Amino acid sequence: MLYPEEFDVIVVGGGHAGTEAALAAARMGCKTLLLTHNIETLGQMSCNPSIGGIGKGHLVKEVDALGGAMAIATDEAGIQFRILNSSKGPAVRATRAQADRVLYKAAIRARLENQANLSLFQQAVDDLMVEGDRVVGAVTQIGIRFRARAVVLTAGTFLDGKIHVGLNHYAAGRAGDPPAVSLSARLKELKLPQGRLKTGTPPRIDGRTIDFSRCEEQPGDLDPVPVFSFMGQARMHPRQVPCWITHTNERTHEIIRSGFDRSPMFTGKIEGVGPRYCPSVEDKINRFAGKESHQIFLEPEGLSTHEFYPNGISTSLPFDVQYELVRSMPGLERAHILRPGYAIEYDYFDPRALKSSFETRQIAGLFFAGQINGTTGYEEAAAQGLFAGVNAALACRGEPAWLPGRDEAYLGVLVDDLITKGVTEPYRMFTSRAEFRLQLREDNADMRLTEAGRRLGLVDDARWAAFGRKRDAVSRETERLKSTWVNPRNLPPAESERVLGKSIEREYSLLDLLRRPGVSHAALLGMDGGRYATDAVSRETLGELHDAVVEQVEIGAKYAGYIDRQKDEVERSAYYEKLRLPDELDYMQVSALSIEVRQKLAKHRPETLGQASRISGVTPAAISLLLVHLKKTR
Ligand code: FAD
Repeated sequence: MLYPEEFDVIVVGGGHAGTEAALAAARMGCKTLLLTHNIETLGQMSCNPSIGGIGKGHLVKEVDALGGAMAIATDEAGIQFRILNSSKGPAVRATRAQADRVLYKAAIRARLENQANLSLFQQAVDDLMVEGDRVVGAVTQIGIRFRARAVVLTAGTFLDGKIHVGLNHYAAGRAGDPPAVSLSARLKELKLPQGRLKTGTPPRIDGRTIDFSRCEEQPGDLDPVPVFSFMGQARMHPRQVPCWITHTNERTHEIIRSGFDRSPMFTGKIEGVGPRYCPSVEDKINRFAGKESHQIFLEPEGLSTHEFYPNGISTSLPFDVQYELVRSMPGLERAHILRPGYAIEYDYFDPRALKSSFETRQIAGLFFAGQINGTTGYEEAAAQGLFAGVNAALACRGEPAWLPGRDEAYLGVLVDDLITKGVTEPYRMFTSRAEFRLQLREDNADMRLTEAGRRLGLVDDARWAAFGRKRDAVSRETERLKSTWVNPRNLPPAESERVLGKSIEREYSLLDLLRRPGVSHAALLGMDGGRYATDAVSRETLGELHDAVVEQVEIGAKYAGYIDRQKDEVERSAYYEKLRLPDELDYMQVSALSIEVRQKLAKHRPETLGQASRISGVTPAAISLLLVHLKKTR
């Protein structure tokens, strides 16, 4: 049957990419349909129920600044929050939360169900409707044909998914869910370049069989409890609980080694490449044979369940080995396994075949986002989903794509890395991937992106008003500090000694003083009996925003020199970075370039000179030659 209504955007898949894509397209006013296998699994966390961490937390805050759901859903579902790297510089500080997986799903589903312009429909998608070189809709398992102007595919680990436990394997999208076999076959038929990757998950443990007295307690940050969303408040959080730590030992390692001959990884049953930064426990024991012990975090999966996630023992070893290895660790001697660990292999599509907007080059109107693009992680998926949803909506309106730069957002880094470099293993975000990380901080994600989100139609009035209040308060206070002067005459020497550690010898602005190491905003305001304080930045006037405003003022002052230098660097390279390469350019005819470079450029067809410079094997010398060629031919 042809469904009687037509849609602007169809999103296939209700995981982290799909839900953000559908919400974004609908918020931008597009008539959107989210088609997914099962409405009960919307927003399901396939692996550990944790959101954020270094690099990933940055992405979550960016999704939030653009009006996305992940951060606020985490605030409603988080049962433990921590700021990682809290003693380090602000660029690498990151929020991480342990979520109650049931509450998280409920928070995501509530947003989807209450979003205007968005309809949900439960059915597997088996086929895409393609006319000429354009996608025009999707066909479900029972033959319902839904027409749309753009389709965003976010099938995660489901495309031809195959689960491995020891030498047993079976087809699945993840444990308990069916694979997407027909859709995978159809995408292969469309000759979109693809490969196989794998990921894995540990066995889950019944907390009633864990002896916590033999484990080390790891509480979250309680004073204050962090929040994820710029619109979040600690009072949204449910009850907070601790995590626990145990360790592997030599016996655990022996048990693991004894299973190598039945491991699908070591016997060649798994062909897909796994995530190097999140290896299985057998991979760790194999690669780091000299290490006597590995830390294992026992993380609660929720407030209404006894289930625990042992973070660090992802494995596809046979179940009997899993049973023994779990029980070899302190506190887990009597552990009951609720679900076996497993590895899953799945199809991914080479992201170098995507335009910078995530639309496939081959099929107009078809966008890919999430794990299907070779990434791993909920946060990477959510960020891509929002991005693809926005660009699908813009394509429907006939407007140019939205492309945040590498200097504007981790989202820009993620997209650019994927489309220029592709992946050889599941890609995850790290702060080290961002060359301008001093300006791409978690704390200023709203300052960087809320305006763009508002222009795109993603940011609602409440968020826009809160953002405006914060931005104005930061700029007013910075200006005030810049124009308030202290000198040896108006600042008593004892006060200067107390706050600055020495007396001042000449006139300084308060902003100059704030730039000094160890001098805080609060200390300056407290000088001389609070003489330099103002009502405008008091807790009473700013309420919940107070700490965030003070943080921005302090970071802005202390890192101004570095940030200005980075901005200069960005401005200097902006012309070449954004220089568009002509669509009709025949790289094979650029004789100054080596054959290898010509082939790479011809294959990947970068859209800008900046993108060309990041393709592996395209050297700075080749870029200079290309530039000369462009100047000659213009
Ligand atoms: P998914 O969350 O997989 O969602 C895909 C959605 O699409 C599902 O709702 C599915 O039902 C739907 N769908 C698929 N095909 C169709 C179809 N044909 N028709 C209709 N609906 C369809 N990440 C980490 O960062 N660290 C880890 O250690 C880690 N381990 C993992 C272990 C396992 C076993 C698995 C399965 C995943 C793991 N991940 C891990 C990855 C993490 O789960 C994903 O990165 C993230 O969920 C990807 O989000 P997504 O939206 O792209 O896809």
